[in-house]
Amino acid sequence: MTGKAIVIGAGIAGLSTALRLRDAGWEPLVVERAPSLRDSGYAVVFSGIGYDAAERMGILAGLRDRAIPATDLVYVKPDGSTRFRIPRDTVRALQGERSLNILRGDIERVLYEAVRERVEIRFSTTPRAVEQDDEAVKVTLSDGTVVEADLLVGADGLHSATRELVFGREEKFRRDLGHMVGVFMMEGLPGGVAEDATSSLTVGGRTLAIVHVGDGRCAAFFGYRTDRPDAELADGASRALPRAYANMRWVAPEVLAQLSEADSVYFDAISQRIVDRWSRGRVVLIGDAAWCVTLFAGFGSSLAVAGADLLGEALERHGDDVRGALSSWEQRLRPEAERKQQLGRRVKGLYAPADPVRLWLRDLPLRMAALPPVTHLLKRRLQLKG
Ligand SMILES: Cc1cc2nc3c(=O)[nH]c(=O)nc-3n(C[C@H](O)[C@H](O)[C@H](O)COP(=O)(O)OP(=O)(O)OC[C@H]3O[C@@H](n4cnc5c(N)ncnc54)[C@H](O)[C@@H]3O)c2cc1C
Repeated sequence: MTGKAIVIGAGIAGLSTALRLRDAGWEPLVVERAPSLRDSGYAVVFSGIGYDAAERMGILAGLRDRAIPATDLVYVKPDGSTRFRIPRDTVRALQGERSLNILRGDIERVLYEAVRERVEIRFSTTPRAVEQDDEAVKVTLSDGTVVEADLLVGADGLHSATRELVFGREEKFRRDLGHMVGVFMMEGLPGGVAEDATSSLTVGGRTLAIVHVGDGRCAAFFGYRTDRPDAELADGASRALPRAYANMRWVAPEVLAQLSEADSVYFDAISQRIVDRWSRGRVVLIGDAAWCVTLFAGFGSSLAVAGADLLGEALERHGDDVRGALSSWEQRLRPEAERKQQLGRRVKGLYAPADPVRLWLRDLPLRMAALPPVTHLLKRRLQLKG
């Protein structure tokens, strides 16, 4: 069957879904809350099943054109001197050949270019109500229109409105991993930070990383432990980050001084979404809305693209049976998404250890990573071939 689909969200999951459904002969309408494409973001490693899907969907060349080179990883002490460095060749070997480093916003840009002429995208619009029966799903939008379709895809991220409207309140599905994340882009590297490198300091349950993304720009990346994520969220990045990093040395004061000038700051609790079934009737969730694996696992973009590709394939295979397609799609994808969620939960304790002994233990395999047998072991442990 081919029909009409409403896709909520023009992120990586939503735009990939629109592209794949369009290629399968569907007519998607994309509804996005933001007034335009959100170009902002952080650098991600794009690999695994999403890389293969991107190749099938014809967007791999575009992604490769925008890829940023792998960088050295430099671990610093609070005074800024180097503790140890992992050369980029080792980083590349760890990531494997079918993998690229790219800004999140650039993945969206490539997808947007691939769909913009072929798919209607309504910006500054959100869903207000959803009704469905055996024949169709009806969505009332904030622009006052009511749109009827054969399928509604909720690709509206971690705080999905589609999930809230159809599946239930967010708290039911939220699993906190006890950390906050903040990211913003800066013009120019802070003083003394190495070029062409990702430099980081972890101390007292907090990590600050400076990721050089080329063209003189870098991403400042904050990740810290907390047992009160809601209070941190209520305070917002402008109060929470300076408080959490108050006595951190290195470039923390210089980076924090630029926080108020940043174009946009991504700030959120690191939490997964555990949703027992990803579809209800003709409504399906995809991407972070359905399974958010978190940055600890690091495969969110990849799962979003692969999920879209497999969804298109399932709809092609099942003809008129939309529910059958959604259920076989979920059966195929769920084991992989759950493996990545487990990986995220395993890795969280290693991310910003509060105690120096754990930090030393965490860093030990990284220091040894330059040795080929260790690289091989790490690849298997971190599911980097996944
Ligand atoms: C710091 C960080 C580092 C990461 N590193 C990696 C990595 O190395 N590798 C990797 O693969 N992944 C990584 N990820 C994860 C990855 O970025 C996400 O999993 C991926 O972008 C998910 O995309 P999405 O489209 O599901 O959600 P989102 O990117 O959140 O997109 C949702 C879209 O829906 C829109 N929207 C939201 N609400 C509404 C509404 N009510 N109505 C209409 N539109 C709405 C939003 O504006 C947005 O455009 C990282 C994530 C973070 C935070």
